[in-house]
Amino acid sequence: MPSPARLKGRTAVVTGGSRGIGRAISRRLADEGALVAVHYGHDHAAAERTVTEIESAGGRAFAVHAELGVPGDAATLWEAFDRRLAEHADGTGLDILVNNAGITLPRPIEDVTEQDYDRVFAVNTKAPFFIVQQSLGRLRDGGRIVNISSGATRIAYPAIVAYSMTKAALDHLALSLARQLGPRGITVNTVAPGFTETEINPTLRDPQVRSALAAASVFGRLGTPADIADVVAFLADDDARWVTGQCIDATGGVHLGL
Ligand code: NAP
Repeated sequence: MPSPARLKGRTAVVTGGSRGIGRAISRRLADEGALVAVHYGHDHAAAERTVTEIESAGGRAFAVHAELGVPGDAATLWEAFDRRLAEHADGTGLDILVNNAGITLPRPIEDVTEQDYDRVFAVNTKAPFFIVQQSLGRLRDGGRIVNISSGATRIAYPAIVAYSMTKAALDHLALSLARQLGPRGITVNTVAPGFTETEINPTLRDPQVRSALAAASVFGRLGTPADIADVVAFLADDDARWVTGQCIDATGGVHLGL
């Protein structure tokens, strides 16, 4: 059970916080007392639903719209965040940034077009980079940056090669930034989910695919969004103050070995 109010007084932004893993992260951080900006790109109703769920549970949240993967996306996000935050009486500054929004590209190298490649890098890598860049003046000392990567960066998975490359870049971002932001007490870490029950992977609707992917985990099941949100909540908390520059595997032990 989350401890209420461990994050009271903190403000969090969760990109792609409206659905899937991001929704679970938004809800978990709000359960612990954070004021959560639930970012979304297209599905306004899903973002409002997540905000309502948080408020119904006694938490505080607001929706922030910005399409990622288009020119000026990071600036749009932060302008929307600043505007919405100003509507909350005690809302100043930023403490927790979770770069979670992402898209997949289930194609082997032969089938990836330049357009596909540019799009998946624009959403998964370029957008978080500039969101982080423009967060630095807003983040309070002692803050937290958590990037959502993928277990696919540590295994060979040719069917999603370009996607895996976008996430490998995020793994490195944490390392370099952790070094730079340490003097401010800001930690930067990466969380790598495995096969998780969300809408990002439509093949999960196929029972045969589901059982094959579940079998890849040493626990014999697919991950849930809450499995990932719990790890992010730990990194966001004071308990993780001495953990930085790390990539935390949260795949449920996918392909650990023979
Ligand atoms: P999801 O269910 O498809 O949700 C994606 C979220 O990102 C939504 O809130 C969506 O909002 C937002 N988003 C997507 N494209 C966007 C864009 N162009 N602009 C703004 N927002 C955008 O995905 P998920 O499975 O929860 O994945 C979350 C993260 O975990 C991703 O980075 C993904 O790569 C990573 N991950 C997932 C798995 C898995 O098995 N599920 C495994 C490893 C890593 P809108 O719908 O409003 O655009």
